[in-house]
Amino acid sequence: MAQSSKGKLNYRCPRCFARDIDMDMFYDEDKKEYYCLRCAFHGSEEEVIRLNEQFKQKYGRLRQRVVDFGEDNEPPKFKEHKAGEQ
Ligand SMILES: [Zn+2]
Repeated sequence: MAQSSKGKLNYRCPRCFARDIDMDMFYDEDKKEYYCLRCAFHGSEEEVIRLNEQFKQKYGRLRQRVVDFGEDNEPPKFKEHKAGEQ
């Protein structure tokens, strides 16, 4: 097994993150791919980025709050949430 090392960037494991577990992955220089010690996930940087993009749909509005749901065919309106506000 190749020497384990962190990649130039720390990516979290997308498969673990799907279960709300925050795991940093290691980088395999020989295979040029990231892998997770907790689950069996491994993949190229492009694949990791692509999978992480999907989670922005789940968490992308984490720091926003709906202020107006609008009429049926209008998109809801959001405002930025600041810590300490309701
Ligand atoms: Zn994992």
